[in-house]
Amino acid sequence: MHIEKDTAEITPAAIEHLIKYATEAHPLEACGLLVSSGIGDPIDEIVPIRNSSKQAHHRFAFDPQDWVQAYFNAQKNQRHLVGFFHSHPMGAPVPSPTDYAGLPPAFAGIYCIVSVCTHPPQIQMYRGQAGELHPLMLAEVSV
Ligand SMILES: [Zn+2]
Repeated sequence: MHIEKDTAEITPAAIEHLIKYATEAHPLEACGLLVSSGIGDPIDEIVPIRNSSKQAHHRFAFDPQDWVQAYFNAQKNQRHLVGFFHSHPMGAPVPSPTDYAGLPPAFAGIYCIVSVCTHPPQIQMYRGQAGELHPLMLAEVSV
C-alpha cells in the first residue's frame, strides 16, 4: 500500500514519553532514537540520548557514549532502529539549516521533530530520502 510510505506509525505510550521528555528538557533541545520491534512495525519506544551540544538551546549532538550504548542495547535486544528525534524548544517542528547539515549521508529513516513551544506540543515526522526530508502523516496505533 502506498499510504504506508507516507505515514509514520507510533504507539500512544511512545508519543507520551516523547512529549514528556522533550517538555522536561525545555529550554534545551532533547534528542534520541525511535525504536520498534521490527521493520514496518510502529515506533513503540523512544530512547533518550544526552544532548552534548555546547549550544543545546538551539542545537543537538548525540552524546557519543549514550549513542553507542543505545545502539548496542538495541542490537542486543533485537530492536529495530527506526530513526531519530529532537525537539525545538522555541520553534516550529520544521528542519533548520543546521538540521539538514547534520543529516547523516543517505539517511533513509524517520526524522522526528517535536516542537514544545506550543500547547499542546506538535510532533512532525519526516522521511529521509536523498538528502531531503519529506513530511509524513502521524498515525497513533496500539500494539
Ligand atoms: Zn532542529
